[in-house]
Amino acid sequence: MEIALKIDVDTHRGLEEGVPRMARALASAGVTASFYIAMGPDNSGRALMRVFKNRGFAGKMMRTRAVSMYGLRTILSGTLLPSRPIALALPGIVRSLADAGFEVGVHGYDHVRWQDRIDDLDEAEIRSELEEAFEAYRAIFRESPRGFAAPGWRTNAIAMKLLDRMGLLYRSDTRGTAPYRCCIEGATFDTPEIPTTLPTLDEVLNRPGLDDTASIVRFYMDRMSPESLNVHTVHAETEGMQQLDCFVALVRAASERGARFVRLADFAAGLKRDELPRGEVIRTTLEGRAGWISAQAPNAAR
Ligand SMILES: [Zn+2]
Repeated sequence: MEIALKIDVDTHRGLEEGVPRMARALASAGVTASFYIAMGPDNSGRALMRVFKNRGFAGKMMRTRAVSMYGLRTILSGTLLPSRPIALALPGIVRSLADAGFEVGVHGYDHVRWQDRIDDLDEAEIRSELEEAFEAYRAIFRESPRGFAAPGWRTNAIAMKLLDRMGLLYRSDTRGTAPYRCCIEGATFDTPEIPTTLPTLDEVLNRPGLDDTASIVRFYMDRMSPESLNVHTVHAETEGMQQLDCFVALVRAASERGARFVRLADFAAGLKRDELPRGEVIRTTLEGRAGWISAQAPNAAR
């Protein structure tokens, strides 16, 4: 059984507090992973505020325990207080991941702008999101990233076309079942796509019967494929903060079952681009997640 842990870092606080904790936990378990970091400003407060405004700010704050989950500074980031940079504010943490043998990839520039407005952005605006993100990565590492993960699993034909020109080894922009070449509106893109194959913890946390660590670990172990790569997306803001124990328990259970943890870049290096199946990228919704995501169409031609 092969597992790739894809750790998305969306916020300044996630990078500052969640990432070091996860890195320590993974190192002591002897497990590797791939981190994808939003390179630009942390405007997550804007996205959170919008959710709260829609549902009644105070009630939502209480129900979701948003302040303890995200921190007050995150909620105010880009709203009452200026947005903070993410990767460029904490380059030491970003570099220490690579020094410890983890993969570091790009999770967009302005995560909120990409996730909320990708279809409103024109080609020049999407290009600038990508170029700014890659520039920030190069400023930290003096080399180009090999992997990209779209914020919020949202992509479109313009983004895919532009990403094809960035010299990536792979991308992980969608949800699906197995690596493929993406097709949208008749166009086939070159960069191999390695989709997230499992539901995320924040999607399943409130399901009936999944209210303790043991049942959550069992849920995931039951869904791991023994034959094909399991790509599990986790969040620095969730598994790196309040759900760290759950994350550690899952990693331990998988290790005990003999799972091999791989970095996505290493897995991607073994893919033969010309032999990958092609698959349409569709838009769909997922239980437990608000709004649409990009996904590999079922029954992709093999
Ligand atoms: Zn994200």
